[in-house]
Amino acid sequence: MSTADEGLVLVINSGSSSIKYQLLNPESSVVAASGMVERIGEDDGGIEHHADGASTVRRGPIADHTAGLRLIFDMFSSTGRDLRRDGVHAVGHRVVHGGEVFYRPTLIDDAVVRAISELSSLAPLHNPANVAGIESARALLPGVPQVAVFDTAFFHDLPAAARTYAIDAEIAAAHGVRKYGFHGTSHEYVSGQAAVLLGRPPAELNQIVFHLGNGASASALRGGRPIDTSMGLTPLEGLVMGTRSGDLDPGIVPHLVRTAHMDVDQVDVLLNRDSGLKGLSGVNDFRELQRLIDSGDQAARLAYEVYIHRLRRYLGAYLVQLGTVDAIIFTAGVGENSPRVRADALADLSRFGIEVDPAANAANSRVARRISTPDAPVAVLVVPTNEELAIARAARRVAETC
Ligand code: AMP
Repeated sequence: MSTADEGLVLVINSGSSSIKYQLLNPESSVVAASGMVERIGEDDGGIEHHADGASTVRRGPIADHTAGLRLIFDMFSSTGRDLRRDGVHAVGHRVVHGGEVFYRPTLIDDAVVRAISELSSLAPLHNPANVAGIESARALLPGVPQVAVFDTAFFHDLPAAARTYAIDAEIAAAHGVRKYGFHGTSHEYVSGQAAVLLGRPPAELNQIVFHLGNGASASALRGGRPIDTSMGLTPLEGLVMGTRSGDLDPGIVPHLVRTAHMDVDQVDVLLNRDSGLKGLSGVNDFRELQRLIDSGDQAARLAYEVYIHRLRRYLGAYLVQLGTVDAIIFTAGVGENSPRVRADALADLSRFGIEVDPAANAANSRVARRISTPDAPVAVLVVPTNEELAIARAARRVAETC
């Protein structure tokens, strides 16, 4: 049977110097192959490909995204699956910024590619890389439906009070300055899974989602729709992240320009790459941070306390905005794997109906589960995210309409 007949969808997440990919069945969730091309444009590039329980690694320079995608296709054929000959049902592309224009998964044509490209001023690192991935995939798989799934789409209809920044309204309108929100595919997916776990329709639920990975974001959902989220015009706002500062006094930027004589690019690098946990402790990986804390490192301890303090600030804000909360959901690398973060984020909140069960919280598991005490009014859940599956399902849905 061919790859297309099997209903397999190729999901591509094309970043500035990497391409992550998965070939999977959106119905059964079974992954046929996955992998990552790394360090595009550098001398020590490479690809790691996993299929049928085996991993293949190849090292060598990869000039650009087109070469990267070609390498992926070659890897498929050399491991027994020729994507060009057998085809795929659809290709789903993760696209970071959909601006005001895109609010649902969209079938890609030339006009869509142009529009995604034009949104690059809002996501200069991400959208050009997404476009490079899309163009290469269209060239390699002509005739296969290609679908863009936007990280911002889920938050497109945030209420005006939540999405509006209190700056000069004309300047904001002229330059697209509003809260867009990111990680939308993950927030939508895990809140849907949480509803399944609770056996109730999303329309009946008020939920708070914490997506805590290297990037981190929170959202408040009423009846399945977001009413607020922590990331903003860019993925820099909100929670403390691996290398990103999250919320700041905006006055810090002109202060650094004037007193530290930094230019705009240096401030950008400082806030996006050299801040957050890394800026405070020297490490951005949470497991390393925990090891440093356990060894008595004071800077790591402070970084952790700032991280938790910020989480609780958002939790408090969203509890009040929602009024009543049915579920609090933790997801992504840290949210799924750190009982310590979950316990500290929700400590001493039983008067709000929030009570984590220490044994359930400590249990090692890969499946969606409840970690609150059985009688607590607020269900605290750990729900593994799966953005690739959500993108594959969206791509298949859109492909079936063409
Ligand atoms: P993500 O961006 O979702 O892949 O998440 C990456 C983050 O998850 C990194 O900071 C990892 O250190 C963290 N992480 C992964 N596994 C664990 C774990 N077992 N305990 C704590 N943090 C973890």
